[in-house]
Amino acid sequence: MRAVEFADRLTFRHDWPDPKATSQEAVVRVIRAGICRTDLEIVKGYMNFRGVLGHEFVGRVCQGPARWLDQRVVAEINCICGHCDMCTGGLRNHCRKRTVLGIAGRDGAFADKVLVPVRNLHPVPDGVSDDEAAMVEPLAAAFQLVHQIRFDKMQRVVVLGDGRLGQLVARVLVRICPNVLLVGRHAEKLALADRLHIQTVRVDEFTPRQEADVVVEATGAPAGLELACRTVRPRGTIALKSTYAGRQPMSISGIVVDEITVVGSRCGPFSDALDALARHEVDLSNLIGRHLPLEKAQEAFDLAARGDVVKVLFDVS
Ligand SMILES: [Zn+2]
Ligand SMILES: [Zn+2]
Repeated sequence: MRAVEFADRLTFRHDWPDPKATSQEAVVRVIRAGICRTDLEIVKGYMNFRGVLGHEFVGRVCQGPARWLDQRVVAEINCICGHCDMCTGGLRNHCRKRTVLGIAGRDGAFADKVLVPVRNLHPVPDGVSDDEAAMVEPLAAAFQLVHQIRFDKMQRVVVLGDGRLGQLVARVLVRICPNVLLVGRHAEKLALADRLHIQTVRVDEFTPRQEADVVVEATGAPAGLELACRTVRPRGTIALKSTYAGRQPMSISGIVVDEITVVGSRCGPFSDALDALARHEVDLSNLIGRHLPLEKAQEAFDLAARGDVVKVLFDVS
């Protein structure tokens, strides 16, 4: 089958072995798969991953339990053991033996087919398009914030980063907090949020004043945390959404002195994201950038890394 492999460099392969279903795992024929910042970071060395990339996708089950066959599905990316203290303690996304689709120890979805644990599958409601469904994974990650932090409509919330994840976070949080401000570098990306009546400002015109109750750092860059510290009020909360290759040396004294709560935030509940899309409560329509075939993997990655395209999807159908 066709696949996009990363091993030292990105390579399109037409000879990748087909996955085979097991008693616990189904084979999903991929329809669409999105490139996210994590993929761009993996290509720079993040996670030391080797194999087929891709973790944001929608597809149709082609091998596996009869009740799932031919269903259009999305899949959670953390593949768990089910027995460790995290799994039995209700923190399955933190399974100590987990593999992660296209990120850690398991092939991902930039391929004709992907092998996924049956327990990870979610059916996609009919009213949700393929392009929207391919964004359920990052949308669920945005919803995770609502489960970690208590938001209310009076709070001042600042989202740093106008990229794909920042856009999704702003769209989710503005439903609860009208006072969401999206801070970004790119006028054309900020305009996408403006159209949905989300307040925006360019970072070079933004003056951090230590006034925000909650700051969500989704810049994807190490410098974002420092800006978050200058934006959050004393006793406020910073939620960190960025993962990247490399480190940021910084002073943490300000976090101590101002008694800031720092929350790391990763994967979220697919059911929240699917429900919101089925009810048309979150509008993703202007986030879809371009569709490319797997054969154009390098071009697709180059496009996704550029500032002006919001979401690049592989059309695998
Ligand atoms: Zn992702
Ligand atoms: Zn486990």
